[in-house]
Amino acid sequence: MNGGENMWHLSKSALNEIKKEFNPFWQNVISSCASLCEPLTTAPSDILSQPLFLNENIMIDGKTAFYKRWIQNNVFFINDLIKENGEFYNYDEFIRNYNIKTTFLEFYGLILALPKEWKNIIHSQVFLKLNTVSHKIVTAIKTVDKVSKHLYKIFLDKIKETPSRIQEKWKIKLGIDIVAEEWNYFFSLPLLITEDPTLRAFQYRLLHRILGTNILLMKCKYSETELCTFCTETKETYIHLFFECRYVRTFWLNFFQKLEDVCNVSFLPTLSSIILGVNYHLFKDILNTCILILKRYVYLCRVRFTVPSVAEAIEWLNYYYRVDMVSMNLCSTNKAKRIKEKWSNINNIIKK
Ligand SMILES: [Zn+2]
Repeated sequence: MNGGENMWHLSKSALNEIKKEFNPFWQNVISSCASLCEPLTTAPSDILSQPLFLNENIMIDGKTAFYKRWIQNNVFFINDLIKENGEFYNYDEFIRNYNIKTTFLEFYGLILALPKEWKNIIHSQVFLKLNTVSHKIVTAIKTVDKVSKHLYKIFLDKIKETPSRIQEKWKIKLGIDIVAEEWNYFFSLPLLITEDPTLRAFQYRLLHRILGTNILLMKCKYSETELCTFCTETKETYIHLFFECRYVRTFWLNFFQKLEDVCNVSFLPTLSSIILGVNYHLFKDILNTCILILKRYVYLCRVRFTVPSVAEAIEWLNYYYRVDMVSMNLCSTNKAKRIKEKWSNINNIIKK
């Protein structure tokens, strides 16, 4: 297809249609670009930046238009049909200006096909013609220094939900009400209980619901099933994977039983305490530390296709204990004291 960078201005459905003509790599790139298309607003600049071709809003006899000669002569957007004074070109002016061979019917057929409300918006403005059409991605590619970093951020912003939306979703999924201060606590918890960036990132991804499970991976075609890796019986939701699955539930119960037997720390795991953390408990610091480390351990078991075991979980706790002991040398005295006190609560399962 001709049109060079103009291709990236096409609508979501047009991009998904034309990608079939490309190799798998470009199909992937075009799909990603299509996923970033935003709903059209009634802003004049948005309307003038609309492509004339393969645009499902501009239909002639039930079909979208595609005039190769126009594209070759740099007519691609509604903006290209507008004169400097904001009015539409007439037929003669149009062919003279662009030196295009096109019929009277083709020209007026396309102008007639523009949605009435778009034409009203265009007519209601004075001196409206744009110097350049606007498009978030194309503008970024042309103007930003680190393009891939910038595009990555746009993608992240797209999939990242606002905290309030995530909170609402979690409230429904967990079936509990959580007040704002509690949310602040749960969101800051990973920063309070560990210095380890992988643990912090893990909980961040879980809280923002962007951690890969079979449901998400199947949507991206990275998994052939959306069922739980451990039991293969139920959809692998976060709640199932980290709490409700019979293998995982047994693991938590056995682990906390062991903690009570060996360390005299008594705790009955609940769905919200496993997903979000423990808010009220005498030993909440060490409990939150254990839950975060072991929740990531459960996730690693999922990746390795092995069922979580208490013996291996204790090995993981010991590993993070040793990391904390080393990092204590870099902490303030008060912080080092807190870390030491925290781990001392489960002294009996720590190998020194
Ligand atoms: Zn399961």
